[in-house]
Amino acid sequence: MQNYVIKKEDLNKLVERALDDYDVYAPVQKKSIHVYDQISDPASMDLNYGQTMTSAKKLFNPPVENMMTFDFDKKEIKDRLEDTIPENPSLIVGLHACDINGLLFLDRVYGGEYDDLYYQKRREKTTIIGLNCLESCESGFCRSVNTHIVFEGYDLFLTPIEDERYYVNVGSPKGDRLITLAPDLFEEATEDDVDAFRKSLQKKHESLPVEFHLDNLMETLDMAWDDPIWEEIGEDCMNCGSCALVCPTCYCFDVVDEVGLDLKESTRKRKWDTCLYYDFALVAGNHNFREEPEARLKYRFYHKMRGAVHDQGIIACTGCGRCIDACPAGISFLDVLAQLQKNWASAPTIEGGN
Ligand code: SF4
Ligand code: SF4
Repeated sequence: MQNYVIKKEDLNKLVERALDDYDVYAPVQKKSIHVYDQISDPASMDLNYGQTMTSAKKLFNPPVENMMTFDFDKKEIKDRLEDTIPENPSLIVGLHACDINGLLFLDRVYGGEYDDLYYQKRREKTTIIGLNCLESCESGFCRSVNTHIVFEGYDLFLTPIEDERYYVNVGSPKGDRLITLAPDLFEEATEDDVDAFRKSLQKKHESLPVEFHLDNLMETLDMAWDDPIWEEIGEDCMNCGSCALVCPTCYCFDVVDEVGLDLKESTRKRKWDTCLYYDFALVAGNHNFREEPEARLKYRFYHKMRGAVHDQGIIACTGCGRCIDACPAGISFLDVLAQLQKNWASAPTIEGGN
């Protein structure tokens, strides 16, 4: 595909034109944090952000949504979710590589053995302009989990290059369509631009640290089931679920029926759920498979870094660091994994061990 360059100042003009056709979402600053929000003015975008507090997952699978309402008198269903998904296509501007990788993971979950038609409908109607960040954000560890790079899942992908411009990779026909909205703003990339693009990638590579190694993580986790670290962090964990709610790859939800107090109708809702909550593994007979806080926290680590590889072929962590920022108990996903690797580095079955 043809690649382009665009001046940074012209990106706002592109978004301005896109607002006629799309519901546009972008990172905006709210007090001291950034979040993805719908915008009506390109000037409200802030692409100079480290990490948003919550991920773009909420735009495809909202935290709470009504699936349908049943009217007891008329004995009919109304407000079906599939009928309420907006007709307008959406455009998300400024998704970092880690978050695009997060969506690629959700695509596997919600489009695999059990199709999630609501997620897929929103995904099909969404165009993504990704943004390459050339420096590490405060808590992120994307390079350790190889999510600092992305080769698919975007329609346009912008990399800052010299002279206040972006190098533009086109990833799909939807990206081509965006360019046709404002062809005067784009120039075909020259050999010099390709060189500038390579220099930016090199700079990125040099600035992102590798803080733990994926290569022996599976073996480490297999051996570390009884490591004392689980008890240590289990004592601190409040099972508040914040780490899962901000996570771009946590995908669990619950479906509940809420009957109105007037007994006239009942609404079926789906709500985000997490394995950190006590009742997540509660089953008939009041038996709980993960009774203790420690067991629930440990399960989260094993599911994301071990079970997901078995189920989906890749780990369920993009190294975005949001769970680290969100945890009121100061538990760091990265530090726990790095500590486990250190604790088990000399185990006989680990390659390079004694
Ligand atoms: S955010 Fe921290 S305290 Fe809350 S459930 Fe996650 S690990 Fe536990
Ligand atoms: S586990 Fe933490 S670092 Fe990994 S994707 Fe989820 S929020 Fe981001």
